[in-house]
Amino acid sequence: MPAIEFTLVTPGKKLFAGNVSWVQVPARDGYMGFLPGHAPLVSLAGTGMITCRMEGGKEKIFTMSGGYFEIHLNRMTVMADVAEHVESIDLERAEKARQRALDRIRGTLPGDWDIDRAHAALLRALNRIGACQNCGILPGRKN
Ligand code: ATP
Repeated sequence: MPAIEFTLVTPGKKLFAGNVSWVQVPARDGYMGFLPGHAPLVSLAGTGMITCRMEGGKEKIFTMSGGYFEIHLNRMTVMADVAEHVESIDLERAEKARQRALDRIRGTLPGDWDIDRAHAALLRALNRIGACQNCGILPGRKN
């Protein structure tokens, strides 16, 4: 079976390297899915979930934000600014980040906040919370 050799890295670590039969990543303007044989492409990445489908059909879910990805000759690499496997997400931390970002945007937290930065933080937090919800990960569970 043809496959894509998929690698997910951040500046600090390699989160995944292996063969996948299908992978979906968040590009800047929406999700893109890739099957073996895809044409070469380089693109900026956005904030969202990465879904990797293994050859047996099992899926692995990661969250990511920023960076870029490239595919060439069935080799695909995502170089993310930040990324986490969904199981390693600290949901309470994400909830706190969400609230902090909302407070900054609404002006209920004293300070002269960079609103664009607060919006980006809100998006990252909502992405992590949404991924946990999709995967049935409940608040308070221990990693
Ligand atoms: P926070 O304000 O909680 O730090 P953030 O969105 O500003 O959230 P990032 O700058 O995106 O955090 O990430 C910094 C590092 O912390 C990265 O290595 C990222 O993977 C990790 N990280 C951030 N939030 C979480 C979380 N809720 N669970 C697990 N790891 C996280």
